[in-house]
Amino acid sequence: MQNCFHSQFSVDEAEYEDIEENRRTSVDEDSIYLGCTLSQSFNPDFHHSPVIKMGWLHKTPPQGTLVFQKRWVMLDAQYLRYFQNEKEVYSKRIIAILSVTKVLNVGGQKFEVVTRNRTFLFRAENNSKSVREEWVSVLKETIQQHCNSMEKSLMNSSDTRGQRASRVSLISKQGYLEMSGLRSKLYVVICADSVFLYRNAEEHSQGVGITSIEMNLGTVKGTDKRSFNLTTIYRTFSFVAESEQQREQWVEVLQACVSHSLSSNAVAQKIWSEEANQRCADCGAPHPDWASVNLCVVLCKCCAGVHRGLGQSVSKVRSLKMDENAWTENQLFLLLGNDKVNLFWAANIPPSEMLCPSSDSEERQRFVTAKYCQGKYRCYHALFGQQEALNKALCNTIQTGDVLETLSLVFCGADVNCYTGDPELPSPVSVAQHYGQTLQVEFLTHNHNTGRSNETKAALPISHTGYLFKTASSTRAVTEHFSRRWCSLNQGNFSYYESEKSSSQSGQMKMSDVLCLVVNPQGKHGYGHSFELYHDSGRVYLFGEDSPDTVREWIKVIGKALVPPVAEDLVGWSFERVGRLRYTVGQSFHCPCLGWFSLGGSRLLLLLHGEDQVDNIDLRKLQELFTQGYSETSGAVVLVDRGRRLRLEGDRRPDYQGWLSGIQQGLGRGDGPLDQQQLTETEVPVIVDRCISYITQHGLKSEGIYRRCGVNSKIAALLLSLRHDARQVRLSEGVCQVDNVANVLKRFLREVGEGVFNGHQASLPWLHTTSDERRERVSQYKALLHSLPPVNRATLGAVINHLYCVQCFADENQMNMHNLAIVFGPTLFQTDGTDNSAGQVVEELIQNYQDIFNVSGSAVSAEELVCEVLRRGNIPPQQGDYWSCFLVNDNQEMERPLHYQERALAIYFSLGKDCHLVVKRNCYMEAMLIYIAAMVDVSRNSMIKFSDEKGQRGKRTFSRRLCVLDGTSLRLYKEVKSTQPERECQVHALKVYYGIKKRLQPPSCWGMTVVCEQAERDKQQWYLCCESKNELIKWLATFMNLQVVSFCVTETYSTFLSSLFDFFFSFSFFIYIALTHTHYT
Ligand SMILES: [Zn+2]
Repeated sequence: MQNCFHSQFSVDEAEYEDIEENRRTSVDEDSIYLGCTLSQSFNPDFHHSPVIKMGWLHKTPPQGTLVFQKRWVMLDAQYLRYFQNEKEVYSKRIIAILSVTKVLNVGGQKFEVVTRNRTFLFRAENNSKSVREEWVSVLKETIQQHCNSMEKSLMNSSDTRGQRASRVSLISKQGYLEMSGLRSKLYVVICADSVFLYRNAEEHSQGVGITSIEMNLGTVKGTDKRSFNLTTIYRTFSFVAESEQQREQWVEVLQACVSHSLSSNAVAQKIWSEEANQRCADCGAPHPDWASVNLCVVLCKCCAGVHRGLGQSVSKVRSLKMDENAWTENQLFLLLGNDKVNLFWAANIPPSEMLCPSSDSEERQRFVTAKYCQGKYRCYHALFGQQEALNKALCNTIQTGDVLETLSLVFCGADVNCYTGDPELPSPVSVAQHYGQTLQVEFLTHNHNTGRSNETKAALPISHTGYLFKTASSTRAVTEHFSRRWCSLNQGNFSYYESEKSSSQSGQMKMSDVLCLVVNPQGKHGYGHSFELYHDSGRVYLFGEDSPDTVREWIKVIGKALVPPVAEDLVGWSFERVGRLRYTVGQSFHCPCLGWFSLGGSRLLLLLHGEDQVDNIDLRKLQELFTQGYSETSGAVVLVDRGRRLRLEGDRRPDYQGWLSGIQQGLGRGDGPLDQQQLTETEVPVIVDRCISYITQHGLKSEGIYRRCGVNSKIAALLLSLRHDARQVRLSEGVCQVDNVANVLKRFLREVGEGVFNGHQASLPWLHTTSDERRERVSQYKALLHSLPPVNRATLGAVINHLYCVQCFADENQMNMHNLAIVFGPTLFQTDGTDNSAGQVVEELIQNYQDIFNVSGSAVSAEELVCEVLRRGNIPPQQGDYWSCFLVNDNQEMERPLHYQERALAIYFSLGKDCHLVVKRNCYMEAMLIYIAAMVDVSRNSMIKFSDEKGQRGKRTFSRRLCVLDGTSLRLYKEVKSTQPERECQVHALKVYYGIKKRLQPPSCWGMTVVCEQAERDKQQWYLCCESKNELIKWLATFMNLQVVSFCVTETYSTFLSSLFDFFFSFSFFIYIALTHTHYT
């Protein structure tokens, strides 16, 4: 290779350019030409970092001349260099990217590279614009990336300081040296594996130098007392130091630098060829030349030191440069690389705990210990905590090339030395060898005697001791043969001894192998209090004691030791079982995660993987629960809660069976009291809700509803199936008779445990309110209502609300408040009916329903109503869909979209019999919004056909008017020239309906009806008819736009109250959800 290029140091040329430029310019172009050309095109491979872009550019003409100099320019991630020509090895100028502040386009294909102290002007060749643009954009990108990577590795230190610190740390020597052939001294810096030449120290600090000399395959030799030669494969540099002593130092450091890069050629260069390995896996420092061979990370010297301190059992540290024998196989580091390995080790590092190259040794110590000893930031394997499954997965993975998965398994607890189950290939290593997976073999070998045995320790200072009665472990909890044992929980180990004085334990289990802790009901298994531990092996350990305090304390400490610290909320209540389960969310069954759960009654608390907060499921409100496929090894229970589908995986092991039956019991049961029933979102028993909706839909106008008796056998059968699983029962018209359903509701309320009023005792104050004054009694009822448990309160509210609706139709169903109260008094109070005070109370509750239950109908805005209808109707909002609540008259000839702030409930109450509310798509809205967006003026005036009700019927009464609408009023003029309007109405007093009554024979179908209510007694209706749909839209849009402003002045609205919607929705017979577009033609 040597003969491919001539290497002659041309002093003359260098001097020439130097002198020439110094003569012609002040200081700008003061480079030195170190002639060393390759006879063939320059091979950029010898650079440490790959070249991003290179090519010819013209460089700043020296002052006084207009002739640009043609230069070969090369950019890599760290430096921009330019050379005399493309064959040169050593640059004329080298500019550190980090010193470049900006890159600017200037006129005439030129661009500037601006550093703090200098500006370099370049010009693209051939007047080609794209060449210039390319350079500029690549330069900008490189600068940006450089900034990003610096920021990344220097998270916690301030920018410039951090940069300097990291650069300085790599410099092993710097100072002035004479270079033979040059008159002036050069400032020489030895940094990592390179020697940088600067004209002076100032240049160095500015990041602008002459060139860099890569030291790979270089040699250094002293030639005289003060001089020495630095020889690379390209050329020899002769330097003269200031003193003999200085020369010795320079030679020594340079030799170290050479051997450094020499030895690194073999291993480090190869390992660094994977880009992710060019920075320390822990702190991000560049050129890491150490590695932990078992943890598979490449490290800097500082971090390697900390690793070494952890001991061989944790981290086996090797030098990339000195321990060459350790690197017979280094493919592993190429295959993995710091980035991929950190996906495991560093999956969850809080920014505050990040390490950076300038971190001190204490920070390093803390970080490295947390990362590798405690596995604090690692990505937990889905099988974490299940020893058998982990081992099994390990035996499978090592047959493949997926070393990363092996790493994840091993450092999440898989046993490298486990028995594979195959006597021929008993160990994982032998399996990997058999399958020819040499990298797996290498990894396993390095981890042969490193243990993750201290898995759960770190955060567990929990310890507790004491006597408990214990049975022999079994696959189920057996009650015989309890023996007294001295038990100890310490460092995540639960062990037991014959007695307090025994030195050898009679048994122990790691808490990390315990799947589940179950607290037994009192008295079970013969002891006052007992608990069970379900071991990963499938065995169950039963412990008992008569003292509740003793057992409670054990349950508390074991619970804490069992769950991760972040899941502590799971054990801070009176749970029945706590433990871990694999689960998936959504439809997918794949890649289950490990979650922590605790269950008690109807409450299931859960901490899902990656979450930091405990979630809560009320099992009574589950939308669905079902089990899935069963085999010896698999099975699952699926919970659908608030639209979320959670699939808990299990097998035939006893702990899963326990979870399953516990969850099923928590679902609610039809024979329990109200608060143990299946519930709706609003805490009303599903049975009650089902019956009420059915009657609301089909029975409101049914004569004698709730008084007629129905068919007893049908009632009993229906109630039985509802009590069995109300959620599964669909009451459908035709199959059920309204009277049967009405009687099911009555019977349920009459028989439910403790009743709606929460027991006889609690119901007495209701029956004996002290005041004669109605208003007094209402406030007493309110107080009593408040004292009811939530489910009772919600149930009573739902029933009374329903009765209120029923009596609205008394004309048809003959059931007024009094009649209903006679029926429901004894039903709700579960009395025999001899005392009529029950009926009186119910009648007053219906009468004062709005007061007592705090239902003020005015609060619900049209917008809230629409949202709620869509939510309940399960209609997802779609782009371009606009829903409105319309007030529609009986013939559907006219309809008005309510303003979003209008109080829908108040309007509803004021409706006459011929009107109703409909929530449906507003088919004009999109066109109106487009029009409004483009509108310059918020007013409109044009000719329109007009009529009012006073016109004669049957005749075409529409005539042309000039119609003017602006921010204040709507005015109609008979003539264009008229000065006085024929009619006028303030904008805020207008209500605009789409459509005109057909009997008025409007001249087109593009009409609107304007209701004008300026004064209470002055209500006018004007009919305005447009020529086209487009015109109608413009008018409607203008009205809407003006009225948005006028509505904004109204008061603020109360917050969303779900109960109000329930009130509203009990009137759901009035609300139609129209899913299709309606056209008004
Ligand atoms: Zn480091």
